[in-house]
Amino acid sequence: MPALTEDSPLTKLLTKPDAAQLAKTKGLQSVGDLFEFAPRRYVRPGQLTDLSSLHVGEDVLVVAEVRKATTRPMRNRRGKMLTVVIGDDHGNELDVTFFSAFGHEKKLLPGVRGLFVGQIGAYGRRLQLTHPEYELLDDDEQGEATVEWYRTHRVPVYSTTGKLNSLKLRRLMHQALDSVDRVREPVPEDVRVARGLLDRAAALELVHRPSLDDKPSLGLDRLKYDEAFVLQTILAQRRKAAEAELATPRLPRPGGLLAAFDARLPFELTDGQREVGEVLAAELASERPMHRLLQGEVGSGKTVVALRAMLAAIDAGGQAALLAPTEVLAAQHHRSIGAMLGDLALGGMLGGADDGTTVALLTGSQGAAARRKALLAAASGEAGIVVGTHALIQKHVQFADLALVVVDEQHRFGVEQRDALREKGLRPPHVLVMTATPIPRTVAMTVFGDMETSTLRELPRGRSPITTHVVDADKPGWVDRTWQRVAEEVAKGHQAYVVCPRIGEVDDDDTTGTTGTTGTTGTTGTTGTGAATDTSDEDAGWDDWDDDEGASAGPGAGPERELTGVYAMLSTLQATAALDGVRLGVLHGQLDPDAKDATMRAFAAGEIDVLVATTVIEVGVDVPNASVMVVVDADRFGISQLHQLRGRVGRGAVPGLCLLMTRDPGERAIERLDQVAATTDGFELARADLLLRREGDVLGARQSGRASSVRHLRLGRLEDEQIIADAREDAFALVADDPGLRTHPALAAAVAMRLDEEQAAWLERG
Ligand code: ADP
Ligand code: MG
Repeated sequence: MPALTEDSPLTKLLTKPDAAQLAKTKGLQSVGDLFEFAPRRYVRPGQLTDLSSLHVGEDVLVVAEVRKATTRPMRNRRGKMLTVVIGDDHGNELDVTFFSAFGHEKKLLPGVRGLFVGQIGAYGRRLQLTHPEYELLDDDEQGEATVEWYRTHRVPVYSTTGKLNSLKLRRLMHQALDSVDRVREPVPEDVRVARGLLDRAAALELVHRPSLDDKPSLGLDRLKYDEAFVLQTILAQRRKAAEAELATPRLPRPGGLLAAFDARLPFELTDGQREVGEVLAAELASERPMHRLLQGEVGSGKTVVALRAMLAAIDAGGQAALLAPTEVLAAQHHRSIGAMLGDLALGGMLGGADDGTTVALLTGSQGAAARRKALLAAASGEAGIVVGTHALIQKHVQFADLALVVVDEQHRFGVEQRDALREKGLRPPHVLVMTATPIPRTVAMTVFGDMETSTLRELPRGRSPITTHVVDADKPGWVDRTWQRVAEEVAKGHQAYVVCPRIGEVDDDDTTGTTGTTGTTGTTGTTGTGAATDTSDEDAGWDDWDDDEGASAGPGAGPERELTGVYAMLSTLQATAALDGVRLGVLHGQLDPDAKDATMRAFAAGEIDVLVATTVIEVGVDVPNASVMVVVDADRFGISQLHQLRGRVGRGAVPGLCLLMTRDPGERAIERLDQVAATTDGFELARADLLLRREGDVLGARQSGRASSVRHLRLGRLEDEQIIADAREDAFALVADDPGLRTHPALAAAVAMRLDEEQAAWLERG
């Protein structure tokens, strides 16, 4: 066997096409990559199973003869399906099914004897083995040895690709394990000893070649620890680098803007808001740049906290930038900050407070004149606060003295975007990031692990709870009742959202495009130019984030069917007798910015009763008078997304009601909707969401633009939380002693490799 290292390409062990296949479908290029390819599960028969006594769910090892083999084309897919009947000497039989024949039909011919390993399932009332691992037993002695091996081992089952079935992958793995003399060991010995961790070589043996009574999970825990340890080392290094930067201390000014603002605040801050406020003030006043994540339940009042920090920055002579993910949200922030500040936002103007400042708005699609004005206000320092979308990040945007950057609803911003903004300060500005959803501890430690975090746990007093129900849209009575409820709320003077998963086509007959309607069933917001076509979030790039809407077809998304569009829903509502005289409006990302802004203003002012919208309203939109939300085709939305959405209602003293409409969604989707209906605890839901999603989505571009993915860790699992916490403690201690990892070359190499992977993944996403 040739001596290999973990850096050796898999072409050393495989044909070029097979290696290419593994690289393409599983991302495995090197022997080291292969080692990290953990089995999906293990089969542990332990003894030969008697065909006369089989149970569903049982792991079996069967030696039997092929009696019959049939191939037939599949109904819904390309390719052929193979069904084999195997039998023993006593007349017992079992079905074996391969959904893609893939050459098995040439081997499993009637009369051959074989060994089959797998888990018993059922099709209808017949028991069967689906895609079992099997080996043909021709030569007697060899055959006995094969059976003996299976009897004494736990059999790893790998996810297969092309011709590389689990057996081939297992053999490849054994070959690789036997050809590498020394496996990598990124975790220093003292850490390993202190944590009682296996060494990596032993862990790999346990994972890929366990004996019958070995516990592969122990080996997997070690791989998880490795992954967490490398990740945390990177985060610790980032944190260390950030600490070395010097910010301008922004000292509080008694009797300044902040004091004036506090004095006129119409409500009392919650204890949490006050405490976080103190932390932020202390950090602003320090030379160490703030790098803090503020998380809190939907409606917990993060904006006020951020605004107070911005005012403190202005008091100290600096400026603040507030970065929002969508134009709708940027415009709303601009509006609401202006409203909260009142005459404090009219700095330099007649009727403005002496102390006042101004708030500028900068977005990608505003007119040239407005834009120039905003750019000037930022560059001259006239604007104390500049609110904007990603347009703020562009090169030509300059600040006189940028003190604080607040990023609202972080989920859509990447680390690069944030860094670009940071570079606009004379010295690195302080950075405060607010997240839209509560973040489970695992994610806080990994995705946001280089930041300090604060959490607002309580909601302001007087908040009414949100009630959520799932509505079966196939039952006309339920649907009628839903619109009736909406009408009742409107009759009480409240407002409603109806959220649809797509925009759909404008039907000229139904939308007359009148603005500022009163009394009759008119529509607002369809006056824009681009309100014609359908959208999906596939083509949403950095340049059109406002179109980054629509349901992310979540896990277990139901069967393909036409999803309800905003305009179709509008027609439906216009034709619904219960809603006669109700003022309807439309909002989605493809409307032009003025139309969007006009519609949001009209809705906030109570001139629209029911807003039919896409998920543009998902984050941050704040209209306290809205009391009911109907989500159409709710099964198309993810758990966290639904929680975010319904956070738009029940924001004032009015109790909130959320109705999740769904047609024929399938079991898993119903489970998800029931979960959302059952609790309003965002932390719990975020964790449930994590459990359902694959890790790629968790850390992927949509969410954060940060770490590419996690391989072994499951961020939704409590068991893994402890592993991450341990690794974090160890990595931070190690980096504190040796920031450059000079005495830990193996770890340094693992870190470099991980960063390369992230870079590659980042580039690939474009
Ligand atoms: P989120 O944390 O979801 O961003 P917001 O900052 O939008 O929440 O606040 C939600 C609403 O609660 C806003 O209308 C805000 O003015 C109001 N609010 C914030 N803090 C308090 C408080 N301490 N008491 C009462 N209302 C508050
Ligand atoms: Mg908010």
